[in-house]
Amino acid sequence: MNVAQALKLAADRMARALDLDAASVGVEARALLASALSVGRAWLIAHATDPVDPEALPKFEAMVERRLTGEPVAYILGCREFYGIGFKVTKEVLVPRPETELLVDLALERIPEQGAFRVLDLGTGSGIVGISVARHRQRATVTAVDKSASALAVAKQNGEGLGNIRFVESDWFAALQGEKFDLILSNPPYIAEGDAHLANLKFEPALALTSGKDGLDAIRNIIEAAPHHLEPGGWLLFEHGYDQGEICRELLSEKLAEVGSWQDLSGIERVSGGRLTAG
Ligand code: GLN
Repeated sequence: MNVAQALKLAADRMARALDLDAASVGVEARALLASALSVGRAWLIAHATDPVDPEALPKFEAMVERRLTGEPVAYILGCREFYGIGFKVTKEVLVPRPETELLVDLALERIPEQGAFRVLDLGTGSGIVGISVARHRQRATVTAVDKSASALAVAKQNGEGLGNIRFVESDWFAALQGEKFDLILSNPPYIAEGDAHLANLKFEPALALTSGKDGLDAIRNIIEAAPHHLEPGGWLLFEHGYDQGEICRELLSEKLAEVGSWQDLSGIERVSGGRLTAG
């Protein structure tokens, strides 16, 4: 069996088993075969008619089998790119989503290139938000917290070698008594318990996905406590669900000023935030 045939066979099986279009299964099949063969994706194109190394075939087959059960490709490969950076990803952490890049964009707009600036990433998971910020703003210092020790272990590996980020095991602000920040960021869990979407997310940690009956428990907690941990003029920005912009603005308005929401690339309100009035 040659490379093109192996890819076609896998893509066809994945298209039948999963609710995905032809383009997506093609991308996924190439990612899995490239990993099984330890080659780049360009190699697959250049070597479409080469026979697949018979020693790599069982490995590829096992990866495809895992994908057929619905397991995300990021867990099978053990990595995912976010904000142009490769991150290690395990089943202890949420799979990075492209829409979360909006949170990083909004953060970088607010952090000066020079000068001291303290950033907090609440519920860092694999570390994608805090680490992306720390890498793009070397003068800022980032504190990344998570309640899950196993998630934090993944974040620490992803942040290895970065001098301006520290990782703290903490249930939201619990371990940060008396600490203040210029910017607080979070991609918290925000899906309602029992929500139909959860059926498609069964491989990911519930701790990172669901938050109470309406999905807003974590967000309410964060908004309630944020004013005690923000410097005057500091921003709180967090990601939320596609239909939560309005309620998030209402909750934010009770505590902060300049409240607003921002849309992701699909035109969905995805991040909301507000600012602690100065003085
Ligand atoms: N964006 C994810 C999803 O709906 C959920 C992530 C989260 O709860 N923070 O698939």
